[in-house]
Amino acid sequence: MTDLHSRYDVIVIGAGPTGLTCANILGMYGIRTLVVERNSATVGEPRAVSIDDESLRTMQFIDLVDDVRSGISEGYGSYYYSPRRRCFAKVVPDTTEYGFPRRSAFRQPVLEAQLRAALARFSSVDTRFSTRVTRLAQNDDGVAATVTTEVGSREVRTRFVVACDGARSGVREALGIAMSGSTYDQCWLIVDLVGSNDRFRHTRVYCDPARPALALPGPAGTRRYEMMMLPGENADDLTQEVRVRELLARISGEDAKLEIVRKVVYQFHARVAESWVAGSIFLAGDAAHLSPPFAGQGMNSGIRDAQNLSWKLAYCVRGDLGPAALASYESERKPHAIALIQMAVKMGRVMMPTSPFNALVVQTAFRMLGLYGPARDYVMQMKYKPKPHFLRGLLAGNAGKDLRGRMLPQPLVELPDGTKVLLDQVLGSGFTVIEIDNGVLPLAAFRDDRALGATLVRVIPREHRFVESRDTKVAQVRDIAGVLEHLFTGNQVRGVVVRPDRYVAACLARNSDADEADRLLRAIIELSNLDSPGVGSGTPFDLTIA
Ligand SMILES: Cc1cc2nc3c(=O)[nH]c(=O)nc-3n(C[C@H](O)[C@H](O)[C@H](O)COP(=O)(O)OP(=O)(O)OC[C@H]3O[C@@H](n4cnc5c(N)ncnc54)[C@H](O)[C@@H]3O)c2cc1C
Repeated sequence: MTDLHSRYDVIVIGAGPTGLTCANILGMYGIRTLVVERNSATVGEPRAVSIDDESLRTMQFIDLVDDVRSGISEGYGSYYYSPRRRCFAKVVPDTTEYGFPRRSAFRQPVLEAQLRAALARFSSVDTRFSTRVTRLAQNDDGVAATVTTEVGSREVRTRFVVACDGARSGVREALGIAMSGSTYDQCWLIVDLVGSNDRFRHTRVYCDPARPALALPGPAGTRRYEMMMLPGENADDLTQEVRVRELLARISGEDAKLEIVRKVVYQFHARVAESWVAGSIFLAGDAAHLSPPFAGQGMNSGIRDAQNLSWKLAYCVRGDLGPAALASYESERKPHAIALIQMAVKMGRVMMPTSPFNALVVQTAFRMLGLYGPARDYVMQMKYKPKPHFLRGLLAGNAGKDLRGRMLPQPLVELPDGTKVLLDQVLGSGFTVIEIDNGVLPLAAFRDDRALGATLVRVIPREHRFVESRDTKVAQVRDIAGVLEHLFTGNQVRGVVVRPDRYVAACLARNSDADEADRLLRAIIELSNLDSPGVGSGTPFDLTIA
């Protein structure tokens, strides 16, 4: 371990999807990062199977989306079946608001391997497997971490620690942070199969009180079955191969003959850590929140944490933002993580009717909804999935309150040479001011010294053509589907200030002058320098990590 540096800016504990995403983002910003993972490799067990549009946008941010997309089945939905196997509801979203399908089937081991390999791009990131963090001591100078391998231990110093150490987070326990919420002590048998020739691309949800079950399609002929364990059953009996094949045969005779890759009983939880930050230590991913998998959001929420926190850490390390930026991590992320867990619990209730009568009530309710267009659309397009909307956090100004704190849509836009690209391709990894250029509204001038190094993007409305830009250094894009113009007009703003994580930090009021963007960016810096007791430093402690 002599080759470890004695000081890092950030130590990431745990190389699951959350930690690996954090490390890739920190690497993009050139932050000196140490990733430690106690296992010798990334996971082999296929856990998460559904990746959402926001996570794919994060993969795009770290320039990995083409790789990731090559191994997934994009855009699938769910069909809900009654105990008599009649389909009573379909949820098949076809919107790509954030640039990607709302749900795609993927394999967690493949994604983790891709994320790990991608770290090799960054000379500032040190990645150590078969290595654990066994002690964390915080003082005014940051954190001293004891890093242990089978050959010995070594102390390294760091400014910040991100604990992405999973559901049984040793860091969370050592900090004495409780998890609140129900234990949701529901056990499910998970069976992964390969060699499936079933062409049906959607999840089948069997809402049968006799044994609720799901069959999920995966890439490359894989298929996942999830079946509820009933009272009186035990994991050992349920995972016997004969028993597994017998259960599969009741649902699909063909799949019962496939090769079984894995069969395991999981206990699901619906819990959230009471606090996500302790001084310089941040909890992220399963360490901070646990969701039953019915909404397929556990890992996706962890990737959202990584995206929200990592750029803020980078900006703080570089001295561009103050510690209150880090305090906004918990206030922005926690309410949304809780909302998604509540959605998963509700979806679980639909999937797991407790009696035939309840099952009938659910089916009737869905059929009634199907008769009414907007309600059908609400279900079909997954509009019930809570969209992140930060009400408190690293946000500035008063204009466009419904838009501020929301993720910016990602439409296809046209470049002056006629190429069509997804919007983020022109946004880069910093703050961006995006403004409508319709020849009427005030326009921010290009400046080399713009606060937070923000770049400027001018949006040419759909009905207009490219014009000779007064500032040759300003990027111009044409809004070919009218998405941005519609968004700005609807919210009565002439543009937005977008954070690196693609959230709208502030809106430019229609009647504001050309300097408004700079004032808003400076307001964000001021906000980040406000007092934020206990974040970024705080009470000294010395913890042993189990
Ligand atoms: C059956 C099942 C189905 C699921 N389906 C979905 C789905 O479809 N979609 C979805 O989004 N989510 C799903 N999930 C949830 C998803 O798998 C998890 O939310 C995700 O793996 C959490 O990622 P993480 O990086 O936060 O934690 P983990 O993946 O648990 O990684 C934590 C890592 O930290 C390491 N570690 C712990 N302590 C230390 C230490 N002291 N030092 C060094 N390393 C340490 C561990 O070895 C581990 O590798 C599912 C989960 C299950 C069980």
